[in-house]
Amino acid sequence: MQASTSLASAVDGQRFWKDLEAQAQIGALSPRGLQRLALDDQDNLARAWLIEQGDALGCSAHYDAMGNVFLRREGLDPTLAPLLIGSHLDSQPNGGAYDGTLGVVAGLAVLRTLVEQGITHARPVEVVSWTNEEGARFAPGASGSAWFTGRRDAEMILTAQDDDGLTFKAALADCLTLLEAHGAHFRTEPVMPHAFLELHIEQGPVLEEQGAPVCVVTGIQGVNWYEVEVHGQANHAGTTPEAMRCDAFMGAHAMVGALKAAVAEHDDQVRFTIGKFTVSPSSVNTIPNQARFTIDLRHPDAAVLEALDAAFQQLAQREWSGCTAQLKATSQVAPVAFDDTLVSVLDEAVQAHCPKAPRLVSGAFHDAIHLAHLCPTAMLFTPCRAGISHHPDEHIERADAEVAVRTLTHAVEQLLITRSHENDADN
Ligand SMILES: [Zn+2]
Repeated sequence: MQASTSLASAVDGQRFWKDLEAQAQIGALSPRGLQRLALDDQDNLARAWLIEQGDALGCSAHYDAMGNVFLRREGLDPTLAPLLIGSHLDSQPNGGAYDGTLGVVAGLAVLRTLVEQGITHARPVEVVSWTNEEGARFAPGASGSAWFTGRRDAEMILTAQDDDGLTFKAALADCLTLLEAHGAHFRTEPVMPHAFLELHIEQGPVLEEQGAPVCVVTGIQGVNWYEVEVHGQANHAGTTPEAMRCDAFMGAHAMVGALKAAVAEHDDQVRFTIGKFTVSPSSVNTIPNQARFTIDLRHPDAAVLEALDAAFQQLAQREWSGCTAQLKATSQVAPVAFDDTLVSVLDEAVQAHCPKAPRLVSGAFHDAIHLAHLCPTAMLFTPCRAGISHHPDEHIERADAEVAVRTLTHAVEQLLITRSHENDADN
C-alpha cells in the first residue's frame, strides 16, 4: 500500500453520517427506527442503495446465490484474497437503524476514503452485506454468512418459510433480479477472504457506562439451551400432609437453587437465565405434578460450558423434594475466539483512538461467528444508548460512530500495509 500515515483522519465523518441517515430512510418507521425484514422490498432497496454508492466510487458490485452483496475495490494484484469488511442490512420487525447497517456503511466509508485519497493497495478490498442475519422472517438467521462459509446447506436455507408460507427461495428470486438489474455480477463460488472485519453496535450497556466510543471484541460467547421437566404427584392442596407431598414446583425450586450454585462456582462471565417456567395442572388448590423450565447458559469458554453441562446432567439425576427430573439439551452453539493476530491489529487501532477502551466478548451472535471458521476474523463494537437494540429507540452518538469508523479505517490501513503478502495462496 502506498504510504499514508493516517488514513483514519482522512475519513469524511460528515459523509459517513449522511450515508447512515440515508440508509435509515429505507424502511423508516415513524417517528424513528426502521423495518427491513430479510429479502423484503425495503431490504432489497437497501442493497440497491449500496450498489449505487459502490458504482459512484468506481467499485464493482457482485452477488452470490444467497443474495450476499459485495462491493470490490480492485487491488494491484487481483489474484490476492480480498480484505472483507461488513455486516448486514436487514433488521428485526420494528427494529433500529444501526444494528448491522452501521457495519456496512462503515465499510463503505473505508472504501470511499481509499478512493478519495487515491490509495493503491496490493490486496483487493471488499465490503459485504450478508443476507438475513436477523432470522426474524426466515429462521434461523445468519443465512448468508453460514452458507458462504460452508456451515449450512443451501437446501436448508432455501426451504425456510416465513409466516405467510413464502419460501426463502421465492423471496430470494426477486432480490437476485433486482441485484442483476443494478448491474451487479453473479459469483458462482464464494471468494475466499484474506480476513473479515465487522463493526457493530454493542447491544449492551458496558461501553456507554465506561465512556468508550469503540472497543475490540475478542470473541462470541457460546450458548447452551436446555429444557427441564420435574415430575411429582398432583394432589389436594389442603388435605395432603407436608411429608407426603411430591410437589413438582418445590422440586424445581430446589433444583434451580442447586443449578444456580453450580453456575456460581465459575467466573462472572457466565450467564444463566431461566426465561420460561410453567407448572401443571396450574390450579390454585392443586399440588402441581409437573414443572417445566428452560435454561439459557452462556460463556466465552467452551471448557466452562462443558463443565457446567456435566454438572447440570448430574443434578438432573438426583431426587428433588421427592420428585424426579429430566434435563434435555435442545441447542448447543460453541463459543468462538477471534484470531489473535487480527485482534492485536484492532487493539492497536483502538489504543490510538480510545486508550481506555475495554475488551469485550460479544453476548449476541453476529455473522462473524461463521466467518471465524473460514478466515482470520475480529470485530469492533461501538456503544448504543442504554444498550438498547432490536427496537426503534436504538441510538448511537455521531461522535462515537466517527471514532469507531476511524478506528476501523486505521486497522484496515495496517492490514493493507503490513499483511498484504501473507496468505497469498488462500485465494
Ligand atoms: Zn446485527
